[in-house]
Amino acid sequence: MNNETIIQFFEWYLPSDSLFWIKVASEAKYLSNIGISSVWLPPAYKGAGGINDVGYGVYDLYDLGEFNQRGTIPTKYGTKDEYINAIKVLHFNDLKVLADIVFNQKMGADETEDVIAYEDNPSNRVESISEPKEITAWTKFTFPERNNKYSSFNWNWTHFHGVDWDEKTKKSSVYRFYGKHWDTLVDKEKGNFDYLMGCDVDLNNVDVVEELISWGKWYLEATNIDGFRMDAVKHIRSSFFEDWLKTLREYSGRDLFTVGEYWSSNIDFLKDYLSQTNNMLSLFDVPLHYNLFNACYSDGNYDMRNIFNNTLVLERPDKAVTFVDNHDTEPGQSLQSWIADWFKPIAYALILLRKDGIPCVFYGDLYGIPSHNISDKKWILEKLLNARKNYAYGSQTDYFDDPHIIGWTRSGDSEHPNSGMAVILTNNAGGCLQMNVGKNLANSVLYDCTGNLQEPVYVDQDGNGIFYVNGGSVSVWIKKDQ
Ligand code: CA
Repeated sequence: MNNETIIQFFEWYLPSDSLFWIKVASEAKYLSNIGISSVWLPPAYKGAGGINDVGYGVYDLYDLGEFNQRGTIPTKYGTKDEYINAIKVLHFNDLKVLADIVFNQKMGADETEDVIAYEDNPSNRVESISEPKEITAWTKFTFPERNNKYSSFNWNWTHFHGVDWDEKTKKSSVYRFYGKHWDTLVDKEKGNFDYLMGCDVDLNNVDVVEELISWGKWYLEATNIDGFRMDAVKHIRSSFFEDWLKTLREYSGRDLFTVGEYWSSNIDFLKDYLSQTNNMLSLFDVPLHYNLFNACYSDGNYDMRNIFNNTLVLERPDKAVTFVDNHDTEPGQSLQSWIADWFKPIAYALILLRKDGIPCVFYGDLYGIPSHNISDKKWILEKLLNARKNYAYGSQTDYFDDPHIIGWTRSGDSEHPNSGMAVILTNNAGGCLQMNVGKNLANSVLYDCTGNLQEPVYVDQDGNGIFYVNGGSVSVWIKKDQ
């Protein structure tokens, strides 16, 4: 078995030219060659923003670029046929496909309805700040152009908890429909974080639950995807996903690997969520992202021995999907916490070359973000991915003794010839560590595959070597390909 590696194959500012699914297909062979095993694609359904919608402003889950809705047939990324073809090409190249699933909210309703609602305090949603009153809400989704193809389910206010806009008074707030309650099994920020944006889907409504299960079956059959990335799970009652995933796994007879986005740096919240959902899904390691963020902006003062403290990959390695950056942390986005360029090679070494967690590489790092003048990092990522694919095997020994220069070794295994490595990195001045790489690499010459250092290192008969690193850098020592 080779190491698994996910790529998040999109960033926020891709051009709205509907050519992206074609690009996905054209990059499939490359992704497979550099060591990617799963590709997370952006939300594929029609969003309220039409051609400009990244995909999170869901209008119609059944419109994968097939109907002339929200001013366009294709989505930002292309047509349904192009999407399905891209998935086929990814599969042909031995890549699995993860679909981005957005259930928390819907936007861009076709018609308004007059609804009785409470106004809740936007910064403390457990407090109502008005008596029930009539508002005009954009909550009727009739999908006239789709005309009931695939599903005759039309959404109205009874399928939602609330909205953030009253068309009658043109006022933005948090409106909770009369008789509805925010779910309690959600994040507790702002008193209750069930409501995020748009029309908040009521996942207690049995008709909604049935419809989303039937949509899930349709989607699996229409696209043949292999798993899911679940958006905004902290705004959705946790028990919903457990049922939804269980049903689809039984229905399809497949594993359907799933990772949820629970955006919190608090490790306890993530662990609670895993236990509430009976470990039905993995989670992104958000605490690790913030450790990386703090480390790269500390002027070299961060104690690197603590880099894995309070992270999911340390506490629940079996359920951790590690990442460096994503479409929300990139410059200009809502959760902006971009890892600095100089630290990117270090951060990626920390997720790609260790035994725990499934790492997820960000498109914006591999290919760059031209809209923000961020250059691609292929020069280092291709090398680290190759090191992960071919060398990062066997047991792991940590050398986390110095506050700034840390390292670890992998012993290699018999399945991967010449595997094993020594990794050394620092957020401060350069230096060296004596480390033991084990008997597989004893009596050998190792070189730094990042190219940061040119001189080789000799490993003695006991597996000991003295490994070097430049200041603010990483070096990955492996055996030269024969
Ligand atoms: Ca919600």
